[in-house]
Amino acid sequence: MSPTTEPAAVSTQTPTKTTYNLPPPKPAYYPHPGSPLYADKQLYNKIADAKKSLVESHLCQPRSAIAVKIPARSVFRITTPEGPQVCDLNIWNQHNPRERFWAARTRQLHSAHVSTHDRLWSNLPYLRPLVTITADSLGGRHDEWGGRVHDTLGTRCDPYVDKLISGEDNDFHCHSNLTRAVLPHGLTEFDVHDVLNVFQVTGLNEYDQYFMEACPAKKGDYFELFAEQDLLVAISACPGGDLSQWGWGEDKEDLDSLKMVDCCRPLGIEVYKLEDEEKVLEGWSAPEVANYKGKHGLKSPDN
Ligand SMILES: [Zn+2]
Repeated sequence: MSPTTEPAAVSTQTPTKTTYNLPPPKPAYYPHPGSPLYADKQLYNKIADAKKSLVESHLCQPRSAIAVKIPARSVFRITTPEGPQVCDLNIWNQHNPRERFWAARTRQLHSAHVSTHDRLWSNLPYLRPLVTITADSLGGRHDEWGGRVHDTLGTRCDPYVDKLISGEDNDFHCHSNLTRAVLPHGLTEFDVHDVLNVFQVTGLNEYDQYFMEACPAKKGDYFELFAEQDLLVAISACPGGDLSQWGWGEDKEDLDSLKMVDCCRPLGIEVYKLEDEEKVLEGWSAPEVANYKGKHGLKSPDN
């Protein structure tokens, strides 16, 4: 459908701007040299360029998920081995799953779409990097509609919102895929959290509404991360596939649904060890939890 024939967007937001003669806004968390929020680019470029040996390689079948333990100081790549496919990523501290990726704060500290040198932060009361992004074969993409790649705005697809909207019971959404993948690690549905949508192009339209575009990844694209801690990492190959079609592909009687399955592909995880780890990681130290010593204004019975 061309934009002129589309019905007006249902939104509380106006598409036109009003001039209030305000000064240009600054980012709320402005980067300054030496800030603990921002990665030392020299160090992480050195990590990206360093010699590495492949330790493990895992394939995530289309429309499913896998969970993999990744030791601290490793570099790992999420890949598109057969072409475009969006990936829903969850990350936990391997030893304490209460510490996990915090999409909202990461969005504020860096940007709504992330790339090389950005970090994925953990939730409160930990607040430290789980990973730092070291390379990104799709990085910097910004299209004519404002779409950018690797999205923290949206979250995983799930059967509850699907039921609410379509009335259908579909079982292979990313939320469910991730749930099945983490069960053998002692985690449950309640541990699945807001994701980073890797290889997914999204943005906000003139009505401030979330949109998604077809995945631009090609065979061999990758998103590379340095593990700042021992991690449990789960990826789901979204049943939305490359997002070129709309649907979930679970109705075997329906032709459109079968077409949907054709745009679903696998994902890969490759885990690498730095060959000269001590030398490459000179200047790196394991991130500490934020050292707030207060008690949220609570007083103990003693005082
Ligand atoms: Zn999904």
